[in-house]
Amino acid sequence: MKCGRCDNVAAYSRKYSGENLCRNCFSDSILQKTARAISKYNMIKSGDVVGVAVSGGKDSLSLLHVLKKMSESHNFKIKAITIDEGISGYRDEALEIVKNFCDNIGVEYKVFSYKELFDITLEESLELRENEKISSCSICGTLRRRAIDFGGKDLGVDVIATGHNLDDVLQTFVINIISGDTNKIGWMDPDTSSNKTRKIKPFCEIYENEIVFYAFVNEIPFQSEQCPHMNEGIRTEIREFLNSLENKHSGIKNNMYKSIMRISSVVKDSNYKQRKICSKCGSECTGDICSVCSMLVNLKRD
Ligand SMILES: [Zn+2]
Ligand SMILES: [Zn+2]
Repeated sequence: MKCGRCDNVAAYSRKYSGENLCRNCFSDSILQKTARAISKYNMIKSGDVVGVAVSGGKDSLSLLHVLKKMSESHNFKIKAITIDEGISGYRDEALEIVKNFCDNIGVEYKVFSYKELFDITLEESLELRENEKISSCSICGTLRRRAIDFGGKDLGVDVIATGHNLDDVLQTFVINIISGDTNKIGWMDPDTSSNKTRKIKPFCEIYENEIVFYAFVNEIPFQSEQCPHMNEGIRTEIREFLNSLENKHSGIKNNMYKSIMRISSVVKDSNYKQRKICSKCGSECTGDICSVCSMLVNLKRD
């Protein structure tokens, strides 16, 4: 089978569009899709320093690879931010992968640790929690978001980019619906220009399986071993459900994504009026104290 864009042999069939692409044209298409999302949502402005949050997994390393290529022909710079949660064994391998990759492609990077920032590692916080119902991923995710914000400030970046893909967006939406966290749907709006810290997801319109193929085609080394504390629970079930729908009805994820974008922008506008400042740390939040401060207070309580 031939590539639809050149004379090479096709290596990828994009079911939802009917396109067949060779390895090169597939990679180019990922760059084009990413560039389209960046310009549609005004994610990067001329002269910006973009802090890319890099975990060592396929999404964030592919994003770093794509943004590095783009930065060579556009007026923005990138720096990498890596978080060390303090997960013995697991994180060391990822840190090594990130270090080598950044050295190879010539990107400045810096590691920020939970221990340094919060005086507690993830593993220590898991031991302190009394309520087993708080999942390790929700503790870790809350701390990670704050650590990335700190890293961004420390490195003097204008905007923070994360590797979240379209599948992540859909799963998060369903989780927010199921858990009744309707405010959080407003956080999903890709336009973050009114936030204190701008956060962007340049891969938000790209299917997860296409990122995997991009990493494969471009020989990007990534950590495939899962975090030992991973307790994804319902997210895995939702991922499988959405994948099975997509298999039977190509393009259904794209449709759902478009609907989510419309809903999130409406919810965001109504949330905007209720924004407050955390009394402990000064971050933006919706209550008197932000989610990070209230979690740390609960964990460290004697
Ligand atoms: Zn081609
Ligand atoms: Zn706070």
